[in-house]
Amino acid sequence: MLFDYPAALASVIDEAIAPQARETDCSGAFPRVGINALGEAGLLGLISSTDIGGAGKSLADAAYVIEKLAAACGSNAMITLMHYSATAIIEAHGDQETRRAIGSGRHLSTLAFSEAGSRSHFWAPESSARSDGSGTVVLDAQKSWVTSAGEADSYVWSSRPFQADGPMTLWLVPSNTHGLHVRGKFDGLGLRGNASNPVSAESVTVASSAILGDDGAGLDIALQTVLPHFLVLNAAFSLGLMQALIDEAGAHLKRTKLTHLGQTLAEQEHHRTRFAQLLTRTDEVRAFLQDTLSALAAGRADATLRVLQVKAVAAEGASEVADGVMRLCGGSAFRKELGVERRFRDALAARVMAPTTEALRDFVGRATLGLPLF
Ligand SMILES: Cc1cc2nc3c(=O)[nH]c(=O)nc-3n(C[C@H](O)[C@H](O)[C@H](O)COP(=O)(O)OP(=O)(O)OC[C@H]3O[C@@H](n4cnc5c(N)ncnc54)[C@H](O)[C@@H]3O)c2cc1C
Repeated sequence: MLFDYPAALASVIDEAIAPQARETDCSGAFPRVGINALGEAGLLGLISSTDIGGAGKSLADAAYVIEKLAAACGSNAMITLMHYSATAIIEAHGDQETRRAIGSGRHLSTLAFSEAGSRSHFWAPESSARSDGSGTVVLDAQKSWVTSAGEADSYVWSSRPFQADGPMTLWLVPSNTHGLHVRGKFDGLGLRGNASNPVSAESVTVASSAILGDDGAGLDIALQTVLPHFLVLNAAFSLGLMQALIDEAGAHLKRTKLTHLGQTLAEQEHHRTRFAQLLTRTDEVRAFLQDTLSALAAGRADATLRVLQVKAVAAEGASEVADGVMRLCGGSAFRKELGVERRFRDALAARVMAPTTEALRDFVGRATLGLPLF
């Protein structure tokens, strides 16, 4: 049967996500109602293979979902973005049972890459994995940021290899494993419901079969499988916020009057041209994201370059448009009722999420100047 996922998404957003968005932001509570509704509607299994009960949809379809979610609620969007990024690797290297649980919308996953020591340099984990010789592996780590910490069912987890050479090994770690501890309660500037807490692992024992891919091959897998999903979907996240900000600004300019002049704000040249600039910036990001998706779908020679560029293009665009809309809508935007200041705060996250804008610029320079990425 054809899965009309845009219609399913629209109804979940209308019923379970948009009405809660302001409260999620104010309380900082994990948006469990929205995430459960996404699971029940088949949207958490969107990119899982049809063989194991998923919807078998593409990265472009996932980008559509993240863009629409971000326009409604940044926290729901970031949780789903991390879940799709983790799903990409679980689909390629995970066990059947977890794949089936994700495909049927019963399992939420996320990435646990960033560490207290190597910080945003996720390509250099310092955490350890050691074999105890009995078919199990012991993990120790101080993860600095994990979206959906304590809420997801599993973590896609990086460590140093346990035997092989190489920079990284990846694991699928059930979140209820003994020895995992979520540290504190997330209290961030934006994305306040996404439970992005530190997680520590103290002698956490997992089966050696929890490995995702080969020992020592984790960085290659992360670059080839996780990164394209994370970077493209992160750009879609920024675009969704930008579009929502533009829509809110446009509505505000049209409905708000300078009564002493008998004109709307839209009838003021300054407001109109500034709005046009911000709208065009948003459309530039949309065009860049579309080009990246086309390059990937066609296997174009510049696909990798576009993937390395797209998150920074969108993240910087989102910060710029969010700040511009705050100024354009004035004091009205400074208060909570327009929903502009919430999206302004949410929009500032993407540029500091690893790989950060600075790291991506370095990668783009290295890739085009014939230098190794690391
Ligand atoms: C809302 C949110 C959700 C997140 N969720 C997750 C998650 O689910 N999983 C996960 O693994 N991580 C997650 N992260 C963490 C994220 O990916 C980064 O690791 C984290 O934001 C880095 O913060 P830091 O203070 O350690 O940055 P630092 O590494 O200290 O960097 C601070 C600044 O310095 C810049 N910088 C660092 N090194 C260089 C350099 N060599 N050259 C130039 N500039 C440099 C960076 O670009 C950045 O702007 C999340 C972050 C946020 C904000």
